[in-house]
Amino acid sequence: TELDRIRNFSIVAHIDHGKSTLADRLIQLTGTVAQRDMKEQILDSMDIERERGITIKANTVRIDYPAKDGKTYVLNLIDTPGHVDFAYEVSRSMRAVEGSLLVVDASQGVEAQTLANVYQAIDAGHEIVPVLNKIDLPAAEPERVKEQIEDVIGLDAHDAVLISAKSGLGIPEVLEAIVTRLPAPKGDRNAPLKAMLVDSWYDPYLGVVVMIRVMDGVIRKGDRIKMMQTGAIYGVDKLAVLKPQMVDIEELGPGEIGIWTGSIKQVRDTRVGDTITTEKKGCETPLPGFKPAQPVVFCGLFPVDANDFEDLRDAIEKLQLNDASFSSEMETSAALGFGFRCGFLGLLHLEVIRDRLEREYDLDLITTAPSVVYKIFLRDGTMQELHNPADMPDLTHVDHIEEPRIKATIMVPDEYLGDVLKLCQDRRGVQLNLTYAGNRAMVEYDLPLNEVVFDFYDRLKSITKGYASFDYQLTGYAEDYLVKMSILVNDEPVDALSMMVHRDRAEMRGRAMVEKLKDLIPRHMFKIPIQAAIGGRVIARETLSAMRKDVTAKCYGGDATRKRKLLDKQKAGKKKMRQFGKVEIPQAAFISALKMD
Ligand code: GDP
Ligand code: MG
Repeated sequence: TELDRIRNFSIVAHIDHGKSTLADRLIQLTGTVAQRDMKEQILDSMDIERERGITIKANTVRIDYPAKDGKTYVLNLIDTPGHVDFAYEVSRSMRAVEGSLLVVDASQGVEAQTLANVYQAIDAGHEIVPVLNKIDLPAAEPERVKEQIEDVIGLDAHDAVLISAKSGLGIPEVLEAIVTRLPAPKGDRNAPLKAMLVDSWYDPYLGVVVMIRVMDGVIRKGDRIKMMQTGAIYGVDKLAVLKPQMVDIEELGPGEIGIWTGSIKQVRDTRVGDTITTEKKGCETPLPGFKPAQPVVFCGLFPVDANDFEDLRDAIEKLQLNDASFSSEMETSAALGFGFRCGFLGLLHLEVIRDRLEREYDLDLITTAPSVVYKIFLRDGTMQELHNPADMPDLTHVDHIEEPRIKATIMVPDEYLGDVLKLCQDRRGVQLNLTYAGNRAMVEYDLPLNEVVFDFYDRLKSITKGYASFDYQLTGYAEDYLVKMSILVNDEPVDALSMMVHRDRAEMRGRAMVEKLKDLIPRHMFKIPIQAAIGGRVIARETLSAMRKDVTAKCYGGDATRKRKLLDKQKAGKKKMRQFGKVEIPQAAFISALKMD
């Protein structure tokens, strides 16, 4: 395809502003997918995306569009996730395209992730076309939102495209805007092959699938190519474009996006951001690599059944191929055996990865209490990073502890501002800035990451009835009075539940934890004390009373099936439990216990 007939773009927006629905309409109107195969949010192909109604992975589709000028264009569309935990996925995708459609819900206006995503597009040097969606809604105020885009983002919005992705209104205008207002890619067909490895995933039939964006040169089926960073060499067995299912193609030239496979054995050979060239007469200098993602939340993942350890290792390796932003390292725990310490970009990211491991690889996992990374400065002048509270050195060696801090940007309607300020204050926040954009306040806070990571977003949503939006960035480390709080169940410490807390908040968190655990741990035949302690000092305590009767006793009479069902259910529940000394703790306890109400 000639360069001037190609347009590559991403769709960026705050969550729920309608990116995926717009992608649907573009796919539908151009007949890319047959009407009978069309479904809502067609690009969100993972079960977990469809269930949660959110986009997690950036998804690509190639569209043929016959434009008003009589020429047919190839459009490569990348739909991106909106949640802050997946910002890395967005930044990576943006490097593969030249333009962005900035979708803003005309009834909501600019939100925190609208800003975060549009700044990423600007950083990537994109041409940006603003699109105001949901103008079918009575509450839509396109003129006000245009002004807001100009005031808050500083982007010319006078010729924003007004659409309803739901009804299809304005979609032909979006297609024309893509062709006339976004730039064509640049590249040299006669230069050596230079392609960017944008994404990769494991397919049970095809093996490792690699998505690339060609910068210069041409890649053909049968070529022998080299990954510049890893030095690995493979033959191109299959070359295809995504429409969105794979359609084989003979070659991909400059500006084109597609996938290839080549019986890649070593999952580690494919690194997102790597440059791909031909084995012989390849290009000299690689593309600038991607900035690696920095995991901020760590937790342990252990198989419920110790025999599944190798399967877990294999599953993690395959999933990492598809998500370069999560890290892993082997870990052993006295209570849980062999597992992995994994790093994530946030708690939603953690939940998604755990879910995918369980579903896509059929594993039962135990997740230990998540923790941020602390810097422990020792009296001997050295510093060590603490990824796991269980590894906290003896206090007599510790000089001081630093924790990660963030700059949070929260946008909220005026009437909820007071509650938001209180929430931030309660979480040890320091206010940095407060400005207004129309009747929405935009407030910036300096906050400790560990106060934000677990349930801040949920709390914020609930106190503002869903109207607040939130985004954050890591800023650095600062010293504070932090201690390790241990949890003892039946007088035995449960390492997987120990956590770092601020000293002033330890009693409150300790009390909340033991109360939660009392509800989460099933009764046993004996009394179980549940305690929170700092060093040797108990700061909170609850007692779980002993079980009096057999569970089946409440099925009086002799309904055998009901009795059996109850026992089956108990057995299934047991699978998700772990023995700590004499006590069984259900896996749900490890994360639930940390969420504060
Ligand atoms: P995304 O998170 O940006 O991908 O947003 P989705 O495309 O998943 O849309 C979020 C919700 O808004 C869904 O329930 C859509 O049906 C709805 N929606 C999308 N576009 C429109 C629109 O033009 N009008 C109305 N009324 N609802 C829309
Ligand atoms: Mg979406």
